[in-house]
Amino acid sequence: KESFMRKSEQLSAITQMSAGIAHEIKNPLTALKGFMQLGTANPDLRESYNELLLSEVNRIESIVNDFMMLAKPASSIQIEEVNIKQTVDYVIELYQSLISEKDISIHTSIACSDSAIHSDPNRFKQILINIIKNAIEAVDCHGEIRVDVVCEDEEALIKISDDGKGLSQEKLKRLGEPFFTTKKDGTGLGIMVTRKMVDDLGGRISYASEEGEGTSVTILFPIK
Ligand code: ADP
Ligand code: MG
Repeated sequence: KESFMRKSEQLSAITQMSAGIAHEIKNPLTALKGFMQLGTANPDLRESYNELLLSEVNRIESIVNDFMMLAKPASSIQIEEVNIKQTVDYVIELYQSLISEKDISIHTSIACSDSAIHSDPNRFKQILINIIKNAIEAVDCHGEIRVDVVCEDEEALIKISDDGKGLSQEKLKRLGEPFFTTKKDGTGLGIMVTRKMVDDLGGRISYASEEGEGTSVTILFPIK
């Protein structure tokens, strides 16, 4: 009886997840179809819809990418030498235009005796991308983001904090729930995917936040 219960619970989780994915992909598809029909009816306006079409396609792409990341088995991990500073700098560079636009100052401090750690470079980079992007998006203007890394013998501790809008206790509890987003164009998948990648690396992640004050994300993971 017990295993029957578990199976039906699993099935219901899969059903819910599938409905969520279908819904999230259907929205941009419906928008795409609408703009394409408008473009067909009004050839003069076609060009003006291009940007909207592209943003809907991008949205579908990022949802699919996130789900592909979730489906990746932990056995696909490849441990290599990863340069922490280079990776942090790379991610900041990736969002430089948004950072300048919002007038955000970023401080990084990396206290590691060796320049390289041992980890999965793709997952490590993707984790930083997801968290730093959220930090940037949480800041309206003139904010500050800190990236602090401390290495110990076997573990690294990364703390990313922002002084952005923060989260209520209620919302804080919902972090990592699939499709939980407070953003107009968010997917609500970033934290779920980040959790899975940190898990793949054998690490832990925690969030602390105060509404109106800011948020800090702490990751602890093995580096040997
Ligand atoms: P998305 O960024 O697409 O909304 P995420 O899973 O990355 O999806 O984040 C889910 C939600 O968690 C966000 O919509 C936001 O409300 C909240 N959140 C995440 N990081 C932060 C942060 N640094 N500051 C404030 N809120 C955050
Ligand atoms: Mg996000």
